[in-house]
Amino acid sequence: MSRETIETGSNNRHRANRAALGRKGFEEISPRVWSRESGAKTLRRIAATDLFISDFDECLCPAISQAVVGLGIFRRVLLSPFDNTHSHLVAGMARNAGRLVGKVAVQRITGRVQNSKLNRTFEQFVKGIPDQYFQDAIGEVAPPFSEGAPRALEIVAKRGVPVGVVSLGINNVMDRLLERMESEHGVRVNFRDCNEVEIDDDGLFVRYSPEKTYTENEDKRYRVRARVEEYGARHVLVVGHDCDDIMMFDEAKKLGGTALGFSPAGDVLDMLDIAVIAPDWRPVADLFEEAFGV
Ligand SMILES: [Mg+2]
Repeated sequence: MSRETIETGSNNRHRANRAALGRKGFEEISPRVWSRESGAKTLRRIAATDLFISDFDECLCPAISQAVVGLGIFRRVLLSPFDNTHSHLVAGMARNAGRLVGKVAVQRITGRVQNSKLNRTFEQFVKGIPDQYFQDAIGEVAPPFSEGAPRALEIVAKRGVPVGVVSLGINNVMDRLLERMESEHGVRVNFRDCNEVEIDDDGLFVRYSPEKTYTENEDKRYRVRARVEEYGARHVLVVGHDCDDIMMFDEAKKLGGTALGFSPAGDVLDMLDIAVIAPDWRPVADLFEEAFGV
């Protein structure tokens, strides 16, 4: 798929969302930032934040990180298919790779396929793969963070607000990417809730750990609630973008917090207090800078 096709799909989605936001009572309070409240009220709302939680894939990171890493692993296995450890993996990987690529392509154009739909395909796709391959693939294809995302998190953290990630991704990918966030951008998150993977004694991927499996968006609701309770937060700010984040938005609002959609899918607009219609996080960082006075 060409970059032009992807960008046209994304631009069309942004244009449709701007029109829809106007109809739903939002106003553009600053370039690319839409709110149901006035600019001053929106800034006060953000400044009151005492816990910050963001989705990861297609929010902080523009790609679906585990799919990108999965395809990097597949490339490696295919390059040496007669390796003893590879031969039995190729058929299963090939079968699931088509499904994975198809879902990712649809996601890029429509924004309508979520991580929750990819998760079980991905689990099958990487069954039996050495954990080292994940680490190598992250090194080779590590997607960059969305421009402005590390700065936005840094602004929030500097005000002493705990910062966390709630995601349907997997920990052996996400932890490496979050380590890069710390080493390259100096930003450290206080927590991350995502699928934890089981690696066997031979270092091979087995499955998602049963007690740490988050494949449904209801799981994200429970993680938000648990973290709000843990930190005693009264004004949680949650950032998400698609159907996987609806329950996270819903829970934040129930608990008196704020739902911010970054480049949101049309299906989630009704849930939002604030929408940022932009290709990266720079307008979010600018908004936080103004709100927190950093
Ligand atoms: Mg996401």
